[in-house]
Amino acid sequence: MRVGVIGAGVMGSGVAQALAQSGLSVVVVDIDQAKLEHTRAEIANQLRFRALFGSSEKVEAAEQIMGRIQFTTEHQMLADVNFVIENATENWEVKRGIYELIDDICREDCIFMINTSCISITKLAAVTSRASQVIGTHFMNPVPLKKTVEVIRGYYTSDECIRAVEELLGLMGKEMILVNDYPGFVSNRISHLFMNEAAFVVQDQVATAEEVDDIFKKCYGHAMGPLETADLIGLDTVVHSLHVLYESYQDPKFRCCPLLQKMVDAGLHGKKSGQGFYTY
Ligand code: NAD
Repeated sequence: MRVGVIGAGVMGSGVAQALAQSGLSVVVVDIDQAKLEHTRAEIANQLRFRALFGSSEKVEAAEQIMGRIQFTTEHQMLADVNFVIENATENWEVKRGIYELIDDICREDCIFMINTSCISITKLAAVTSRASQVIGTHFMNPVPLKKTVEVIRGYYTSDECIRAVEELLGLMGKEMILVNDYPGFVSNRISHLFMNEAAFVVQDQVATAEEVDDIFKKCYGHAMGPLETADLIGLDTVVHSLHVLYESYQDPKFRCCPLLQKMVDAGLHGKKSGQGFYTY
């Protein structure tokens, strides 16, 4: 089995690593050659670290796992894959362009798995000629460590497609929770309200980012606070998602906090840029 991974950013990198670790052959496609090089080095590092410290059971050598991953800027390399897991930028125009392109390139029986925070699965499926084989797979970050995936059934997604995706996720050691398609699904429809309101709290000087996060961790027992989570996701991705939720529901409760927008405009994209609500 061969799996195509589109996008070599935060999520594409984790998805490619998780697939290769599970013995699958992977081709990673990104438009940015420098990003591909960075991701190749990043995955190799993660795998070396895992081999040294990760587990008491014997794990396969990093070099062997890396041998199963190809990196390319050519979408044409997706012609023979069984599944595409798309992790490109959270932007409608970007994703629409990709689906129009790969619908022509990929085999007819290839399944398209959309990794998106908020964009409607049904709407993206509609730009392809295979809506029954298009499904949402909202992976959690960091992908190799998270055991559960929020899977989204689009309007036309077939039961056969859902079963095939469940099997693939099973090979990756992951289980799924299946939900229906409305923008943001379950996880992000709720969590983006938390993260956005937490940013308003900091903007209004009610509390610092550390204090907001501590209330969630120490009082509610959450593993991470909303602003640490926003930094981990990427503030640019959070802002993109809020815009999608706002436009999709036409509901002002999703209006993006001006502080968040200002941070993104200033290049503070969270952990991946070295600076967000925290310094990395
Ligand atoms: P990112 O910004 O880190 O990476 C996106 C990558 O897509 C970039 O490397 C970019 O060069 C590439 N790209 C853009 N256009 C492309 C094209 N036409 N072909 C191939 N590659 C292209 O973003 P990310 O955080 O990895 O998020 C990717 C997707 O996963 C988004 O839809 C996001 O909402 C979703 N998601 C993110 C998280 C998270 O924690 N970051 C969690 C779950 C889902």
